[in-house]
Amino acid sequence: MDQTKQDDEHGYNLFPERNAKPKENSFKQTMFTFHHKCKNMLHFALETSPYAKLLLSAMNSSGCTVYKDRHFSCEECDGAVSGGFDANSSQIVLCQNNIHQQAHMNRVVSHELIHAFDHCRAHVDWFNNYKHLACSEIRAANLSGDCNFSSELNRFHFGLKGHRQACVRDRALRSMLAVRKISREEAGKIVDEVFDSCFNDHAPFDRIPHTNKDAKFASRHYESRDRYYGNV
Ligand SMILES: [Zn+2]
Repeated sequence: MDQTKQDDEHGYNLFPERNAKPKENSFKQTMFTFHHKCKNMLHFALETSPYAKLLLSAMNSSGCTVYKDRHFSCEECDGAVSGGFDANSSQIVLCQNNIHQQAHMNRVVSHELIHAFDHCRAHVDWFNNYKHLACSEIRAANLSGDCNFSSELNRFHFGLKGHRQACVRDRALRSMLAVRKISREEAGKIVDEVFDSCFNDHAPFDRIPHTNKDAKFASRHYESRDRYYGNV
């Protein structure tokens, strides 16, 4: 007996929602929910994260105003990636299937905004110059909060001197391997070559923001900079 005939006989054709490909329907439903949630979390990040706020105003002053609807896109992504910066369209991709918490969204938005900031201020050759890519990945890992550990337990384990450098190096390396077909050895060599100068380049922050509070302070400092200059 073929499936259609069997469905007819069992009356399943009366209930298409439950008969026809229930998996696909629930998949679409989940996608819709993720998409909606992603957009809400993005909105919240842009409105409240001091990292995002500082980066957005810095880009604005550099002539690269970022618009939420034009420059961000919530999408389904393959694998475990959380986000990406598409240099061709100057768009930030947020992986709606892999970002489920606001704190994670805040970090991804800040990380990708640092790439966008680098893209705006310098003519980054993302595709041919691996040093440029490595430098931006080092900066993004260092300045976005990717390597901040706020809980006491983590601070105990990770507060050791040099941990931040090791975390930043590791993350930059992993990011490079995820987006370019190069060997771990080659990527490691490039990251090490540019590490010191890129790790110490904190723009547009005045120093490494170790906590949300640092970022808030930096953001306020950034906003008031014109006033200070105005007085000299
Ligand atoms: Zn990155």
